[in-house]
Amino acid sequence: MYPAEFDYYRPKSLAEATALLRKHKESRVLAGGHSLLPAMRFRLATPRVLVDIGGIGALAGIKAKGKALEIGALATHAAVASSSLISRTCPILAETAAQIGDLQVRNRGTIGGSVAHADPAADYPTVLLALSATLIAAGQSGKREIPIEKFFVDLFTTSLKRGEILTSVRARGYGAGTGGAYVKHRHPASSYAVVGVAAIVEVEGGKCERVVLTVGGATATPVRAAAAEKALTGARTDHAAIAAAAARVGEDISNPLSDHYASGDFRIHLASVMARRALATAVARAKG
Ligand code: FAD
Repeated sequence: MYPAEFDYYRPKSLAEATALLRKHKESRVLAGGHSLLPAMRFRLATPRVLVDIGGIGALAGIKAKGKALEIGALATHAAVASSSLISRTCPILAETAAQIGDLQVRNRGTIGGSVAHADPAADYPTVLLALSATLIAAGQSGKREIPIEKFFVDLFTTSLKRGEILTSVRARGYGAGTGGAYVKHRHPASSYAVVGVAAIVEVEGGKCERVVLTVGGATATPVRAAAAEKALTGARTDHAAIAAAAARVGEDISNPLSDHYASGDFRIHLASVMARRALATAVARAKG
């Protein structure tokens, strides 16, 4: 199907882009176009104006900012996957980006587009929640920082205000003694996560000192598996402890998504299997 008619603008600066969004009420930001354009072709989205931010170079960089990483909203999945800075300081993010879609999707899709789209089956949201990332948005009244815990509101719904543009994602990396892993059960056609689990574990003296476990794809927005985190914190790093913790993931999954591919119960089962694998890998990496 062809999309409905729209006007197209390609601003050169953030100020110009936010002014265009302010001026045109039925406008949408266009980044990589790999979620928005298919939606427009099915007429699930019918914006009257597209504001293509692809020409705003300032939104594309990946840099260190103090102890954190600042990833421009326009950084493609391929750029995140191949960034030596990210692989060195926050390898779970590079590992996640490398698992998104196929080469074409990774070359066009952007981190900003992925989180702004808030698809429950997307990979970044789960991992960014595990990293307690901060999202930076620019709008009419300047820039503001949004903690990831307050960003995802519902299916395809975020706390971005009308006319706001996500400019970057900030996340802290981790060093020796801490391991991270993202594991997903991928949809065989698209590679989207039917369920994806991110684990970050700090190991000291043969024990799991700090455990973060998040689950995406099972619910409208990604969740922290608090019961499983608690079960493993302070426990030994053996397989029995990991399996016991992973078995508790379902305690934090309420109203699981259900569709023709995977029922809610199957998603909960997948979440505990993916959690066991992610935790085991994170622990092994933490031990070096
Ligand atoms: P666009 O499609 O341009 O925009 C998406 C939405 O976000 C739009 O509403 C747009 O207005 C808004 N938006 C974009 N950028 C900004 C911004 N900076 N500020 C505010 N709003 C903004 N994703 C996965 O996570 N895992 C997968 O395995 C996966 N597989 C895929 C397979 C296929 C075949 C396809 C087509 C897509 C797949 N995707 C997958 C989605 C892909 O990662 C998209 O690139 C991503 O979801 C959207 O990024 P984009 O840059 O293309 O955004």
